[in-house]
Amino acid sequence: MNYTKSEKLFEEAKKYIPGGVNSPVRAFNAVGGTPLFIERGEGCRIFDADKNEYIEYIGSWGPHLFGHNPKFILDALKSSLENGTSFGAPTELEIKMAKIISELVPSIEKIRMVNSGTEATMSAIRAARGFTNRNKFIKFEGCYHGHADYFLIKAGSGALTFGVPTSPGVTAANAADTLVADYNDINSVKSLIQENKNEIAAIIIEPIAGNMGVIPASNDFLSELREICTEEGIVLIFDEVMSGFRVAKGGAQEVYGIAPDITTFGKIIGGGLPVGAFGGRKDIMDTLAPVGPVYQAGTLSGNPLAMSAGLAALTHIKENENLYNVLEKKSKYLEDGFKENMKKLNKSYAMTRVGSMSCLFFTEEHVNNFASALTSDAKLYGQYFHKMLEKGIYLAPAQFESMFISTAHTTEDLDKTIEANYSSLKELL
Ligand SMILES: *Cc1c(COP(=O)(O)O)cnc(C)c1O
Repeated sequence: MNYTKSEKLFEEAKKYIPGGVNSPVRAFNAVGGTPLFIERGEGCRIFDADKNEYIEYIGSWGPHLFGHNPKFILDALKSSLENGTSFGAPTELEIKMAKIISELVPSIEKIRMVNSGTEATMSAIRAARGFTNRNKFIKFEGCYHGHADYFLIKAGSGALTFGVPTSPGVTAANAADTLVADYNDINSVKSLIQENKNEIAAIIIEPIAGNMGVIPASNDFLSELREICTEEGIVLIFDEVMSGFRVAKGGAQEVYGIAPDITTFGKIIGGGLPVGAFGGRKDIMDTLAPVGPVYQAGTLSGNPLAMSAGLAALTHIKENENLYNVLEKKSKYLEDGFKENMKKLNKSYAMTRVGSMSCLFFTEEHVNNFASALTSDAKLYGQYFHKMLEKGIYLAPAQFESMFISTAHTTEDLDKTIEANYSSLKELL
């Protein structure tokens, strides 16, 4: 393939934008090479500046459950656009949005819209702190909750030490209130709670982790987490920015049958526009201004264009009984194909999957937390990524990401992908 135009654009972009990109993973640093500049998307395909065509499995990192440019979202956007783009005053669209989310996700009693997943998790933590009058919270190693200061923290050495900032610019004071536990390890949570009795406002978790590759929480682990939070008066926050409306109509909480106190959303609920939301128990949500004292605001929050696109997506989800069965079938088909390929090649790399989220880890170890995910050969993934790209398959440019399938992927597209997977692995191994 020829990437001349993308290479030129990248050189130009780097002059004006740090690293040439507006979000770091796009720069291909984890896999090497030049990022592709995308011109257009259609269904499960994207087209780059050099007119190369790819079947893609990123879906803008999750939002595109129906592929690119589905007609019903475009139509909703077009008709909304004619009324104006933003008012900074309430609109009926916002009620419809709140209603449909609380209908599909029963734990949501009240909800507030924001403009990104990061804003949603930030605001959820603030609400939990305001509600409990406590400062600390627990997150899990390998879970991503956006880029707010106090989330960019990893565990210090030794289980009970303070967290350590993972980025310059994050202060030690910020890190001090973030406690880091091990995913799928309830004892690591229990000891943090022992050490910080009555000081923990919230536990935030991706119930299906999608930002260290795909790693589902075990059922027992999540139910124990639920019990502990209830006993200790800790607000349980499910970060469903990725899993919400991805794995089921009611998100991961429907899959597990466990209701959190607060849920954060993003990605799919914006129908491809920048949106986030956080919601849950009425008593917690009513600590927010103007009802309560916890300040939280946004000039463009509940933006009518974003609400229209999101509503169109959620309405489609609500009205299509069979949607998640279809996604499950497609995604399982791809998983089975990949597994069959590996068998032929005498490899047993770990492949994880929940519905249309999946990940092929380049390790033969069992993957169930961050440490085991890190046993993957990320360099080999980089080579695999480029082999696939040459064959017209565009995967996430990093090992520790999810592969997303949309309703737009046909059996033919999946067969092409399975074939490319086989020849790529064969060339590499
Ligand atoms: C993507 C993501 C976020 C951050 O959302 P942004 O819109 O990128 O700020 C937070 N949590 C999870 C689980 C995510 O997948």
